[in-house]
Amino acid sequence: MSTRATIEVSTDERLTVVDITDQVSDAVPQDATGTCTVFVRHTTAGVSVNEAEPRLLGDIERALADIVPEEGWDHDRLDGNADAHLRSMLLGRSVTVPVVDGELDVGTWQSVLLVECDGPRTRTVTVIAE
Ligand code: ZN
Repeated sequence: MSTRATIEVSTDERLTVVDITDQVSDAVPQDATGTCTVFVRHTTAGVSVNEAEPRLLGDIERALADIVPEEGWDHDRLDGNADAHLRSMLLGRSVTVPVVDGELDVGTWQSVLLVECDGPRTRTVTVIAE
């Protein structure tokens, strides 16, 4: 059996990383065993699995900003957020996480991270357990 839920994540900066592990876990049925797909329904935000250590989250933001400069892109002539599209593409749109008895079966230091590249705004994330 497959279930689908959505969660809303509000961000408060243009480029920021948010630990959404607890919200994802709450969206998985208690009796689910299998996999959970976490899918970000946007073109300027991404999702990843990594350590939610505050300094590392800052490093992720800095690395994305260093890899993709803020200005000088063609798409900026349309809506000024090409850097956000490009940064989110480096991260990807979804992750798959194992689930055992309704719990995310991740490593001790692994968290599900939403990476906001064009905030602040509210993002919708789809969580499918199957
Ligand atoms: Zn755009």
